[in-house]
Amino acid sequence: MSLDLVCLGEPLVELNQTRPDEPLLRLGHGGDTSNCAIAAARLGLKVGYWTRLGADPLGDSFLELWRREGVDASRVPRDPEAPTGLYVVTHGRDGHHFSYLRRGSAASRMRPEDLPETWLRGTRVLHASAISQAISTSACDTVFRAFEIVRAAGGAIAYDTNYRPALWPATRARAIVREAARMADILLPGLEDARALFGLEQPEAILDHLLDLGPKVVALTLGAAGAIVATPQRRERLAAHRVAAVDATGAGDAFDGAFLAVYLRTGDPFGAGRFANAAAALATTGFGAVAPLPTREAVEALLDRGDVG
Ligand code: ADP
Repeated sequence: MSLDLVCLGEPLVELNQTRPDEPLLRLGHGGDTSNCAIAAARLGLKVGYWTRLGADPLGDSFLELWRREGVDASRVPRDPEAPTGLYVVTHGRDGHHFSYLRRGSAASRMRPEDLPETWLRGTRVLHASAISQAISTSACDTVFRAFEIVRAAGGAIAYDTNYRPALWPATRARAIVREAARMADILLPGLEDARALFGLEQPEAILDHLLDLGPKVVALTLGAAGAIVATPQRRERLAAHRVAAVDATGAGDAFDGAFLAVYLRTGDPFGAGRFANAAAALATTGFGAVAPLPTREAVEALLDRGDVG
């Protein structure tokens, strides 16, 4: 089966403290590229996901999640010796805190030689993030190899610069992200990550720099300030939608999935940006990264209301 989009990276089980001072943890699912895959699948794309999962019940729960969401994970290898990664969200008086238990995870042991080449050659777009590359050097090599396979088959590369300084040294991150951005057709950075990675402050300067690296489209997300979509010919600034935001976890992943869903259908990056800006706003109105990912109807209803800040 040929696919519109394959996402590649590390899925992470989420254990979320339901209330401050309570010892209960609710099991959920996260991981930037998995969130993006589900966002795009809910909006109608044919999506695949590739990673390496632990041969454990948490790995099973991801296969079950992707099956429910219509995401093809049929080529994902299982690792009998390493666990599926996870993170714990605790809530204190000063807000929420993320603790990651991902070192040595099955995903961090992905290897270029395990990539399903024929399956990858059948996708129109491959999406990965800087987190996919930060988790280990073999994962970094795997992402670059997957980029080469898809590009050689005529497919496009989408890349989110999602930066986690704790995962790798800044100098290595800067070099790898720059190279990945040079290979990408569609670049999906967030403003704070871009500032830290490229040493530039102003959104316009960041866009100049990134477009010079070669991508056809850059969609820079600005959190509660919206987003800017840029091509070498044109830029469009999008104000954020006014919504009752309660949890922005995964808003950038929702933006990526929604952007790709429309861009792949229409080829119009500005229409894709407007749609993604609305989809990501809706993703902030519920808790967790996956549950509030919207349907096409919900996004269109928000766009019809036109309620922007
Ligand atoms: P990331 O999760 O990668 O840090 P951002 O915080 O930039 O990404 O958010 C991604 C997108 O989510 C923004 O471009 C915007 O469209 C939407 N968004 C984020 N926060 C809000 C908010 N408070 N209200 C409305 N939309 C928001």
